[in-house]
Amino acid sequence: MAKKREKKKKEFECIDCGEMSSDYYKVQTNKGNIYKCSNCYEDWMRRMVRSQYASQQTGMNNGGLNYTDE
Ligand SMILES: [Zn+2]
Repeated sequence: MAKKREKKKKEFECIDCGEMSSDYYKVQTNKGNIYKCSNCYEDWMRRMVRSQYASQQTGMNNGGLNYTDE
């Protein structure tokens, strides 16, 4: 059997570091879709979790963000 060549993945510019990456996550926000590389995404998720705790404490609603892993 012939080796399957890996398909060229689509690349997107990370909104945080500006690098083109094929290892990205799509994030749906109320402003539209944004793309983050996996490094920035994980970093960002950690901050989001923290800010969610913070907003729970102050009773503020930050608006719904939906996350999709693709
Ligand atoms: Zn990045």
